[in-house]
Amino acid sequence: MKAQMHNLREFTPVVLLSVLLFVSCARLPIIEEEPSANRHPSAGEQPSAEPSANREPSAEINSSAGEIASTAENQSQEAAESAAGTAQVMENTGLPQDPTPGSADTELPDEQVPQLTREELEQQARAEELASQSELSVYPSPQQLAQEALYHQQVINGLCDEIGNKLGSVSVEDCMQQQLEFAGAYSVNARPLTQRDFEPRNSLNEKSRVLIMGGIHGDEYSSISIMFKWMALLKESGGNSFSWRFLPSVNPDGLLDGQAVRQNASGVDLNRNFPSQDWNDKAHEYWLNNTGENPRRYPGVAAASEPEVRWVIDQIETYEPDVVVSVHAPYHLLDFDGPSVAPDRIGDLYLHQLGVYPGSLGNYAGLDLGIPVVTLELPSAGIMPSDEQIEQMWIDMLSWLNSRTELEQRAAR
Ligand SMILES: [Zn+2]
Repeated sequence: MKAQMHNLREFTPVVLLSVLLFVSCARLPIIEEEPSANRHPSAGEQPSAEPSANREPSAEINSSAGEIASTAENQSQEAAESAAGTAQVMENTGLPQDPTPGSADTELPDEQVPQLTREELEQQARAEELASQSELSVYPSPQQLAQEALYHQQVINGLCDEIGNKLGSVSVEDCMQQQLEFAGAYSVNARPLTQRDFEPRNSLNEKSRVLIMGGIHGDEYSSISIMFKWMALLKESGGNSFSWRFLPSVNPDGLLDGQAVRQNASGVDLNRNFPSQDWNDKAHEYWLNNTGENPRRYPGVAAASEPEVRWVIDQIETYEPDVVVSVHAPYHLLDFDGPSVAPDRIGDLYLHQLGVYPGSLGNYAGLDLGIPVVTLELPSAGIMPSDEQIEQMWIDMLSWLNSRTELEQRAAR
């Protein structure tokens, strides 16, 4: 991105002058929007008013007649982009090449390429670019990486816009301040799945790695809001002895698609879709006989059929947590699966082990993988615990993690 900005500084005067000359000669208005490649993404950037547009850029492609800029405008904009794009490519590779594919905000005049969607255009441009490059440059260029990062930032801004407008206890700004990262996967309805990492205060003395998640069930608002409260507490405190990875909203579609629902957009209860060893034998039988085919408990057509579940599995495999914490509501208790000594209580949630269900996270990660899984069931799905309780739960969690680490260290001696 720095290199890109540097290039722009070099070329901006020339480009601007050309555009201004052209525009003043043609007596046309100056282009209002600068190409997105020129914009530097920042955490404070306001999300667009239309979050769905961020998620589905292809929706902008076949612009209606009203959206098509005049030919002269397009020509001047293209000239500017072409100059900047060519200059950047030359700077990066030393070779003159075709301009890079259009940026996310670039509008293409229909009359020139009426039959191609933006995706197709991008693919075509990428193929041409690759074909013209040497073997080594099959890796994405800094420009491509910067565009990808910008796109993901826009997608996350869109998600924060939706979350902030849905949850009473989390504002758009609260969400943006947490600087969530795109975690490499999307929900069924193409919302980004996000994470936020916190390193221990002393990285040489990491006691444990904790994977903590909320909102597996989309209608349990408090389980998502409390993630943002704890992330803020952790940020304020400057970290502790543990590494934390927050997955604040595991099922964003369940939360955000109209009225919030427990299941994901495919109608699957994600906490019954994990590939526990007993899934094939018992998940459907349990659903039929024990829940009366309750759609809210539907385990899916196959274990790990859902992208959100596959993503959590991937998180467990790559992050390698020592402990998993999963927050739910509204049963007002503390559940625990897997090895290690369970906490007696966390805040005013007292230990009450419920056993496991086929396909639950506790069953899969706790029993099958042997990772302790702490399940916090908050007292209400719609009403947040008091600030005092939120803080007390956090303190008790840290104290249990500390005691657990000491026990393990003692056992290892
Ligand atoms: Zn739940």
